[in-house]
Amino acid sequence: MQDILTAGRYFRKKYSVNVYKTPISISGFTCPNIDGSKAHGGCIFCENDSFSPHVGVQKLKGLFLNINSTKNPFLSSQITQLEFQFNQSKLKLSKKFNAKKFLVYFQSFTNTYAPYDTLTTLYDKAFKLDNVIGISIGTRADCVENRLLEYLSEKSKKKEVWIEYGIQSTNNKTLENINRAEKVEDVIEQIKKTKTYGIKVCIHLIFGLPEETQEMMLNSVQAAIDLNVESLKIHPLYVVKKTALANEFKKGKFTPISEELYIDTLVKTVKMIPSSMIIQRISAGVSDDSLISPQWCNNKHKQMYNIKKVLEKEGYRY
Ligand code: SF4
Repeated sequence: MQDILTAGRYFRKKYSVNVYKTPISISGFTCPNIDGSKAHGGCIFCENDSFSPHVGVQKLKGLFLNINSTKNPFLSSQITQLEFQFNQSKLKLSKKFNAKKFLVYFQSFTNTYAPYDTLTTLYDKAFKLDNVIGISIGTRADCVENRLLEYLSEKSKKKEVWIEYGIQSTNNKTLENINRAEKVEDVIEQIKKTKTYGIKVCIHLIFGLPEETQEMMLNSVQAAIDLNVESLKIHPLYVVKKTALANEFKKGKFTPISEELYIDTLVKTVKMIPSSMIIQRISAGVSDDSLISPQWCNNKHKQMYNIKKVLEKEGYRY
């Protein structure tokens, strides 16, 4: 049986203890695909409530930042949010798992889409939080300035620094279908550039995007391998309420991926990737009534059980 290199195994080996990600959601952050800079409405599946809910997130009235914002009157509130959310997660994880080390994960929206000073102030704060080994930043490839890469590169000499690029697919037609407002070629260039700064990269892929065949999904996996990124996150596309995808689904224009095809594509992925590539996630779902379809995504534990069962049959332990 071969152990898949999960984030848990990777960090445990490196730091000799379990490392826990603490998700952070900062008010005032948005996305160029939502605010009209690149597109309106966002990716067809994007509905921010489908991210993990967090205690302590309140709306900062009238504030939506972007890279060119000249001032940010709410920075101190954002710092308070960061500290509050981190402390809540830390407390919970410490009680439940006796957690000792943490990686601060800037998760919701586009976490590099704000003025440079705001970003570096928040990241600096995160690096200094108790028992934090580093940070991981979820973002789009078109929202990371060179000076931010320089800053992160410097930090990576002493701390763990990851950028998580949501690319979803390396097929331009698919990116058009999902209203991504990005070209694969630009995304690939940005990832290559990020790696030259010594920053670790995790690519997010979605299996089951509109009109994608298994071959297309595996082409995206191959692109990640060719880019020699450190890590992958993969999940199935599911339909939640209040999204453009929900409308497509209701009109009969979108059919979600089946559990069998998803797991089969995942098994093929595991066989393709080098054993040194970390797989941080292989499942996702929603257990509340915001989920429209497919129903196999309504129970993450059952989904994970089924995935692990097939992987084990193939000789892999997740
Ligand atoms: S890039 Fe991310 S935050 Fe922006 S619309 Fe797409 S999924 Fe939502």
